[in-house]
Amino acid sequence: MKICVLPGDGIGPEITAQAVRVLQALDLRMEMEEALLGGCAVDVASDPYPEATRKIAQEADAVLLGAVGGPQWDNNPRELRPERGLLGIRKHLGLFANLRPAILYPELANASTLKPEVVAGLDILIVRELTGDIYFGQPRGIEVRNGEKVGINTMIYSESEIRRIAKVAFEAARRRNRKVCSVDKMNVLECTQLWRDVVTSMAPEYPDVELSHMLVDNAAMQLVRNPKQFDVMVTGNMFGDILSDEASMLTGSIGMLPSASLDAGNKGLYEPCHGSAPDIAGKGIANPLATILSAAMMLRYTFGMEDAASRIESAVKTVLAQGYRTADIYESGTRKVGTREMGDAVLAAL
Ligand code: NAD
Repeated sequence: MKICVLPGDGIGPEITAQAVRVLQALDLRMEMEEALLGGCAVDVASDPYPEATRKIAQEADAVLLGAVGGPQWDNNPRELRPERGLLGIRKHLGLFANLRPAILYPELANASTLKPEVVAGLDILIVRELTGDIYFGQPRGIEVRNGEKVGINTMIYSESEIRRIAKVAFEAARRRNRKVCSVDKMNVLECTQLWRDVVTSMAPEYPDVELSHMLVDNAAMQLVRNPKQFDVMVTGNMFGDILSDEASMLTGSIGMLPSASLDAGNKGLYEPCHGSAPDIAGKGIANPLATILSAAMMLRYTFGMEDAASRIESAVKTVLAQGYRTADIYESGTRKVGTREMGDAVLAAL
């Protein structure tokens, strides 16, 4: 098992260090190799996704990423921005499926802006298509028609693109509560009528999974009204962009949210949902749990090691139950710890 570790910028190196300790503690005979991505790569190699990193990422089975970006690179030309590195690696590795769980641990129910009874125990997974849709469709641009400017984008999905993302969702549901809700806007958009038709045609291949459909506007409402009705939600790039951010905020704690981006095989890039948090970088106070949980997703989705993944997730539950909290999730009556101490607590619980 070869893992490419990309600590990145800001709090990235602090949080990935804890995830690496957790992986090492499992004694799974992994080879880990670090490389540069983002602002740190711009500084050293004048390229946010340098050739050396490309090679290591290409040869690895999985990539564990911290976060990239920071104010010192904000005024760089576009090709020297840290985010370019992120887009570059996603494209290079053909990562078309983005998996974002939104889990609310009962101990953190007060962190949500929703009533605890609505969100406590929430465990949903949003599967978002990442490489198609209106974000990439042609034609696109701004042009002059009839003497005024018009902006144009094209929503487009092929049957094969829909099939491959729906397959990821059906298979993910088989590891969970066996329910898939496909989200579209078929009443208005032909593109998503095709989406619904293709997803529906696949249902007989997964008789053990219950398939339902929902229009995206209703899905946005249902996510705040009764989010626990969902298990896996699958949708296109744009709807997924919006719904996955909405779902993640149901939990109220950005430092807790992992993510996975998968290719057509088992390769994946695993990273926390949050950014590089330059405001707290270097202070040793960042929450490493989202990155540690991303490492658990890596064991589950790339390596099929369900037991090892569950061990990490149980250890995280244990430390929360024991009252350990980093500053971002701290409440009075709990025990405030720094990044490394949180890593220590997870190791002890393991
Ligand atoms: P952010 O997620 O970095 O930070 C938002 C807020 O959440 C900050 O107050 C931060 O301190 C806090 N926070 C985030 N992660 C935390 C953690 N693990 N523990 C404790 N607190 C945490 O978002 P931002 O401030 O909008 O962006 C900062 C930089 O990160 C920008 O350069 C942005 O481009 C980049 N960014 C990168 C990614 C990525 O690498 N995937 C994603 C989003 C933003």
